[in-house]
Amino acid sequence: MRYISTRGQAPALSFEEVVLTGMASDGGLYVPETVPQLSTDDLAAMAGLSYAEIAFRVMKPFVNGEIDDDTFRGLVTEAYATFSHDAVVPLNQLDANHFLLELFHGPTLAFKDVALQLLGRLLDHFLKKRGERAVIMGATSGDTGSAAIEGCRHCDNLDIFILHPYQRVSEVQRRQMTSVLADNVFNVAIEGNFDDAQAMVKASFADQSFLKGARLVAVNSINWARIMAQIVYYVASAVALGAPHRKVSFCVPSANFGNVFAGYMAYRMGLPVERFVIATNANDILHRTLAANDFSKQELKATLAPSMDIVVSSNFERLLFEAYDRDGAAVAALLERFQAEPTALADAPLARLRELFASHSVDDATLLQVIREAHHRTQEILDPHTATGYRAAERERGDASIPMITLATAHPAKFAEAVVKAGFPGVPLPPHMDDLLEREERYTVLPAELSVVQQFVAENRR
Ligand SMILES: *Cc1c(COP(=O)(O)O)cnc(C)c1O
Repeated sequence: MRYISTRGQAPALSFEEVVLTGMASDGGLYVPETVPQLSTDDLAAMAGLSYAEIAFRVMKPFVNGEIDDDTFRGLVTEAYATFSHDAVVPLNQLDANHFLLELFHGPTLAFKDVALQLLGRLLDHFLKKRGERAVIMGATSGDTGSAAIEGCRHCDNLDIFILHPYQRVSEVQRRQMTSVLADNVFNVAIEGNFDDAQAMVKASFADQSFLKGARLVAVNSINWARIMAQIVYYVASAVALGAPHRKVSFCVPSANFGNVFAGYMAYRMGLPVERFVIATNANDILHRTLAANDFSKQELKATLAPSMDIVVSSNFERLLFEAYDRDGAAVAALLERFQAEPTALADAPLARLRELFASHSVDDATLLQVIREAHHRTQEILDPHTATGYRAAERERGDASIPMITLATAHPAKFAEAVVKAGFPGVPLPPHMDDLLEREERYTVLPAELSVVQQFVAENRR
């Protein structure tokens, strides 16, 4: 198994190389050259297995023998042992045929833990094997930074530098990052906004000379291993509800499209899926594209579901590559046009996407109403991201006899603002985190100046 770029120009890579590489050199994203297949028997044999064992079986073909089975099984088992629920990602039945897939039982209470707990271990494994060390740099407005730090805190061969905008992330989100006191974890509060932090990370990837030869690794959702790890919970939840003998549908609160693309991969591997419903907040590029063929950037809107606040959906490129029959040149041309001006998909690829995907956008006012309604009907307090999914699932349900699985992407305690605005007193943190607000913190405040930040990284990496 090799990995190829969605823009058709960059060299094909092995699994190890693709884990250590972020974006392809032609500006595209890596995808597997062929899609491994799960037969009806393979799926049927997963009934009753542990999450870690299903994860091993689903991901094994992507790893392509580059890690021996025992070692890979060990990495997977360790990664999911950090989750506080024995089922790792339990299903919670809301009503007759609507289920929540709770993806928030990991160390930072959001679904990004599922991928980053494994990615940290994969990186550390490959670096150790090569006798190398690497530096991770990332900018965060919240969820990704804390999940990346938790995923890397035990990695001997990695140093991680996460930039967040000083005094502009919530206290819970900041403390989830800054209370990790491991020697290889560096939190930098930038005196600027998220875009300033992001720009400095981008500039550092573009010119890495400040690192004097050390490898810089990206852990954002364009890393193939993150998608790979997320395929697993689609398979595991569908099997729990009767796959391969019964179809399911999924509804996915979406931003960069990494999560729902993983679902699409599960479908391509052979999982019987009726439809995917894409839920967005007011930053609705995915909904506009699917519903109105309006593939254009709009100004960023700050919403009550902040982890879905995006202008461009980077992983959508991976789906476009499939919709355009893996024609890298066509994808490159489309995305070039998109960067310059509002554009549209060609008719045939759009029609193909509409056969499998539906979409719905939920604004802040509706989102608050949904949190109240869902509580009234089910006793659950949904986090604001999950609330967009709950609404979209109800509106775009389709055949009601097919189970609908809505992905619960965060724990409501993590996004108290929306929960309180919806009229609830708030939601307590789970027991293993209830001392978060008392834990010691460590972070460095730096000005939004590239040279200062790069010097800090160069001096502190080990
Ligand atoms: C990152 C995130 C999302 C969006 O996921 P994508 O893979 O970017 O589509 C949704 N909800 C929460 C809570 C997140 O942290």
